[in-house]
Amino acid sequence: SAWVTKTRAIQELRDAVLRVAAGLPVTIHELELLPTFDQLVPYYQPIVALESGRITGFEALIRWRHPERGLLGPEAFLPFMEEIGFIVEIDRWVREQAIPQLGDWQQHFPRTPNISMHVNLSASDFLDPAIVHSISEIVKDSNIDPADLVLEVTELILLGDNAHTLDLFTQFKSLGVTLALDDFGTAFSSLSYVRRFPFDHLKLDISFTSELPHSTRSMLLVEEICHLATSMKMGVIAEGIERQEQADALRGIGCRYGQGYLFARPLPAKDCERLLAAE
Ligand code: C2E
Ligand code: MG
Ligand code: MG
Ligand code: MG
Repeated sequence: SAWVTKTRAIQELRDAVLRVAAGLPVTIHELELLPTFDQLVPYYQPIVALESGRITGFEALIRWRHPERGLLGPEAFLPFMEEIGFIVEIDRWVREQAIPQLGDWQQHFPRTPNISMHVNLSASDFLDPAIVHSISEIVKDSNIDPADLVLEVTELILLGDNAHTLDLFTQFKSLGVTLALDDFGTAFSSLSYVRRFPFDHLKLDISFTSELPHSTRSMLLVEEICHLATSMKMGVIAEGIERQEQADALRGIGCRYGQGYLFARPLPAKDCERLLAAE
């Protein structure tokens, strides 16, 4: 089972680390559990305005170009990276690719308003004492307006130490970056997170989108979420739009932004440039 595999992988890695520390050789098999930075690739998925279909931003989504197993999605390796404490380095690496990339795209494809870049944070990032400094430095170095950087946080992260999390949110706010609640609606107390944390956007989970337009209950729920968000001055981005009828339904009930295979899959940077140039 998956659990046995993970436990074994952790044990093997621990053994490998001990052997490296003792100056002994490690096996290729052990090294294959870990990506090297040159095997990691940032992919970017467009976020579009549902009214016009125009690209308003991108979400950076990591991929591992594995020498034998091909292109792996985050689900195949990020949970393990989180477990062994490597996720902080990986997320920092993603930001170091994606934020300068945004600066570059804003310069080559200027528009009003600016396109934005979304990056995902994980629970461990909230325990990294250098997180605020690291973000503010890369934003400065990349010559972007901090508001054009969107930090995506899932409800799972908010389950942790609330005082510390709130303090970090305050610091992010004073940097001027934008905050989005990812996978909104999947946790036990989504509304209480909206009440307690200063989010600028809600990313409506794919489980809502996939039921549109045929489920009346989901239509009503999403419509009310959009009303609520608008009156709280938050934007709503619907995730996982795969069919035109979903995009039409969302637009009709007041959702302004969307992301999904209907518009584009996550793509390498070069392909995104082609999309931007074509607009
Ligand atoms: P997420 O942040 O909710 O990202 C959206 C996921 O939905 C992405 O999966 C995207 O490829 C997928 N998606 C987009 N449009 C559609 C659609 O129309 N239909 C369907 N079925 N799926 C769609 P992906 O790239 O596999 O990423 C999975 C999760 O891994 C992300 O969920 C995010 O939580 C995490 N992740 C990805 N990159 C990073 C990263 O650099 N750092 C951290 N900490 N987490 C990351
Ligand atoms: Mg996300
Ligand atoms: Mg999401
Ligand atoms: Mg999701």
